[in-house]
Amino acid sequence: MQPIQPDSAIRKETEQGLKCPVCSNASGFRIVYRFSTFKLVECSACKFRFVPPSEHLPPDYYARYKDEAVALEVAKANADLKLVMNLERYKWISKFKSAGRLLDVGAGWGHFVWAGRYTTFQTEGIEPSEQNAKFASQHLNVPVKHGDFLDMNAEEVFDVVTMWDVLEHINEPITFVQQAYRVLKSGGIVVIKVPDASSPIAKLSGRIWHNISQEHVNLFGKKTLSLLLQRCGFKTLKIIVTLEPKNILVYAVIPWLKRAFSFKRRTAQLTYTNADAQRSFNAITKGGKFKTAVIANAHSAVIKLSEWLRIGDEMVVIAQKT
Ligand SMILES: [Zn+2]
Repeated sequence: MQPIQPDSAIRKETEQGLKCPVCSNASGFRIVYRFSTFKLVECSACKFRFVPPSEHLPPDYYARYKDEAVALEVAKANADLKLVMNLERYKWISKFKSAGRLLDVGAGWGHFVWAGRYTTFQTEGIEPSEQNAKFASQHLNVPVKHGDFLDMNAEEVFDVVTMWDVLEHINEPITFVQQAYRVLKSGGIVVIKVPDASSPIAKLSGRIWHNISQEHVNLFGKKTLSLLLQRCGFKTLKIIVTLEPKNILVYAVIPWLKRAFSFKRRTAQLTYTNADAQRSFNAITKGGKFKTAVIANAHSAVIKLSEWLRIGDEMVVIAQKT
């Protein structure tokens, strides 16, 4: 971790009314890292790390998300494998709720909602990107509504609310969790997966941790996420340590290999888009039933090992509405 120099910007941010999105503390923020387009600050009271609101991406950033090249690649993905990978997530949930109505917030392309058909849950989703929601409803034929979760007019109707890789992107995480509380029945559970800033991997990686980006405006640790949930009326039941083998492969290992073996590396910056990442994943995972089963089992083993050894830089927090 870098030493922190006291500087005038710290005072300026406090004066400008910076408020901790987790504990509402309004004074004493230190700058942890500075990058060219944003910085990461830490609350002195609860140690939560976040990007100041003035440096957030535009509010309609996700609503405007559209990438036809990625959509084409996602449509070609190995569906059997997607199914098995998503069913792993239902195993975590079913230890706390065995059935009921489930809402997936930030449903993306809709694969998790789709996998719900093979479970005892009745699943639906809400997704801010029109392109993603359309893909889910037209291509997968699942109920994923295009819209903002905060505009959803529902009260005490769901047994489970899930947010996979969502809360780190949300400008006001407390309002999101409050909305989850509102739409859940009494005793219902919320399942939140986010990068874990309190993990040894995150701490050792320092400023080069792959989860630090301008898109990830909230970097929760185990304590800060539990605190936020508690403030919104939830009791944390379990924190599962995990990692995402797919992301490590397509966003870290493959781009690194491509750069290392690229003849262009001295003359030009290697470009690697989200479509390239999905293309790489498709190429690796393409195959018949046998290959799919081998990959699915390897994926499941890595997830189980990560949970058992508590090694991973992501976490799944399961909390109950009290
Ligand atoms: Zn705080």
